[in-house]
Amino acid sequence: MNKVFSKPTALNNAIMHYCPGCGHGVAHRLVAEALDHYGITGRTVGVAPVGCAVLMYDYFNCDILESPHGRAPAIATGMKRSRPDLVIFTYQGDGDLASIGLSEVVHCANRGENVTIIFINNTVYGMTGGQMAPTTLLGQQTTTSPNGRNSKVQGYPIKMAEMLAALEGPSFVARMALDTPANIVKARKMVFKSFEMQIREMGFSFLELLATCPTNWGMSPVESINYLQDELVPVFPLGVLKERETRSLSEKS
Ligand code: SF4
Repeated sequence: MNKVFSKPTALNNAIMHYCPGCGHGVAHRLVAEALDHYGITGRTVGVAPVGCAVLMYDYFNCDILESPHGRAPAIATGMKRSRPDLVIFTYQGDGDLASIGLSEVVHCANRGENVTIIFINNTVYGMTGGQMAPTTLLGQQTTTSPNGRNSKVQGYPIKMAEMLAALEGPSFVARMALDTPANIVKARKMVFKSFEMQIREMGFSFLELLATCPTNWGMSPVESINYLQDELVPVFPLGVLKERETRSLSEKS
């Protein structure tokens, strides 16, 4: 079967629980394609978040460890330091990573841990019913900001990729969007890159993926893609923010 239509071997046959039009299914596929591409499924361990992707251990053929809320980068650090032969990635949403787990990801990045972090930014807490997240846009209505996010009361959307790229530790930081086929192809390349950096022992990789949450945005799947393009991308610009070509021997030791 044509590779475009066949399922990556790193995904199993379980039916995903995600809502129609959700970005998680696409993101899962891109991660699985990267595991297939590098032939690393047998030595990869993912760290699952608390959030809509909490059941990701049902979908991947690699080992997945469940993390307390937001602590995935700390767990990834421990696993990678004790088993550097393994490929370790976390997969986290914005409530998990940018709110409850903010300190974990900042310090993991600042230490330059040789792990890969896939960050799904859909601007809301998904699993718990669409509450305001740190990434919620100004004016965006959520169940806890029914009048729209107000900067004077709730501050501004946190730009995780820009924040982490400003640190010394990370080797690769990028933001992509899961909207059009062209952008998904670009995102695929960046997912591959974020794993390749770890395989080359280059250090911390962080990939933010802008994704749709039609259920909590109160939109159809098509409307949510338009919303992502019109409202999210201007606030969270796409691109590679940081990419180191080499890592010195002293940094590796
Ligand atoms: S609530 Fe949103 S993020 Fe969660 S599965 Fe549904 S569409 Fe996806």
